[in-house]
Amino acid sequence: MQRANAITLTKLRPLQGQCSWGARGLHQAEKVLLTNYVWKIGSNSALLAGKERWVNGSIPLFRDDVPLSTVALTTVASLLLPQHQGWNVPRLCELFQSSTVSTIRGIEIPRFTSSSDSLLWPFTTSGQYTTKSGYFFLSRNTDICSMNVPLNLKFFRILWGLRIMPKWKIFLWKLCHNGIATSANLSSRGLAISDTCPQCNLAPETSQHIFRSCHLATILWQSGHLGIHSNLNPDVAFQDWLIAWGRNKVVFNGVVQDLACIRSLVNQGIQQHFTFLAQPISKVHAWSADSGPPGFLFAHFGASFCGTPQAYIQVDGSWTPTSTLAGIAWVVDHISSHNRESQGSCIIAPSALSAEAKACLEALIWAQGHGLRHIMVYTYCELLVQGLRHQGSQPNTIAWTLDDIRTIGQQAHELATHIRISKVSRLLVQQAHELATHIRKGQIPFTAF
Ligand SMILES: [Zn+2]
Repeated sequence: MQRANAITLTKLRPLQGQCSWGARGLHQAEKVLLTNYVWKIGSNSALLAGKERWVNGSIPLFRDDVPLSTVALTTVASLLLPQHQGWNVPRLCELFQSSTVSTIRGIEIPRFTSSSDSLLWPFTTSGQYTTKSGYFFLSRNTDICSMNVPLNLKFFRILWGLRIMPKWKIFLWKLCHNGIATSANLSSRGLAISDTCPQCNLAPETSQHIFRSCHLATILWQSGHLGIHSNLNPDVAFQDWLIAWGRNKVVFNGVVQDLACIRSLVNQGIQQHFTFLAQPISKVHAWSADSGPPGFLFAHFGASFCGTPQAYIQVDGSWTPTSTLAGIAWVVDHISSHNRESQGSCIIAPSALSAEAKACLEALIWAQGHGLRHIMVYTYCELLVQGLRHQGSQPNTIAWTLDDIRTIGQQAHELATHIRISKVSRLLVQQAHELATHIRKGQIPFTAF
């Protein structure tokens, strides 16, 4: 699901007649996925307010005294003031309960940019669908994921964390779920083959047989030089895999393995394992590479930075989950006059992140209005700066606010001025933080200090 403008979704063809488990599974998954996307409201939304999921992933409930015809015809656009001025609060109060009104007022709408409604996948921060989040979501809907019986969650947690080749992990996962193509498994699924073990011809070839009771397996488990008696040796999984490899050659190539051949495969596997271990560990979860050292994470707009800025502006938002009201504040240090002035206001924000982003936007609008052109903005919020730097992975909840900040940044570029928004330590935004908290607690509408 793409965020921008992807209002139509490609759907699977309807099921006809008899179909496979795979096809049925896909359709079931599609149904679950399609009924879970949500809307992000654009600047002139034609969505029907009583029909679509646009308020925190839900369809808002209208007040009991609102006529059904009004419920059926009210568009989201009709709840907004003209010229990007925000929500039409009196109109919202006519139609919805006060808690819903608060929630709607927390939804961001574009200030400067024109954006259309877009579909969001609600289980990722960016709103973009990922296989991981889809799997996570489906695995929590029990009937759809019968394969996900928690056989032994701890075991799998350890398995996925082991530093062994991914193919070994997957093999073990398959083995635990009886997903190996043994003769007994294939035969029970309707393939016209014998289910007998081709190595010994003594028993059905089940996973249990090839890995435990077949004579070849018994010899391999007992064989000392493979080192499988040591709990410290990671080669256990490796041997399981090799036995299967040998077995596959028997079944599919018609070659019966002897012990010497399997031992040679074991040695090959050990070599592969050491080659794998010699590779450096990928640092996917490490500190992101473009952050640089602390203090060097920033988003820059406009002309290249030269000399001293006209002003340093600390911005901060103060938010608590128990109240929808947030305080936002900015403290401006003018360089030439050594003056300091402070500004702030109380807003409705659904999250701390939203409050931080709004504080930054309002400070920039204020600075523009006061003729400040070369400015350095300090924020404590790393997500805000990262979002400004990488539009593709920005948090969807502040997408419009970030777009508005970029619009101001674009103007700085056209005027050959510059704005730099830097992630700094909490200490450097302390005054703005104290002011924002003061404003939130006092519920102060708009103040200059
Ligand atoms: Zn056997």
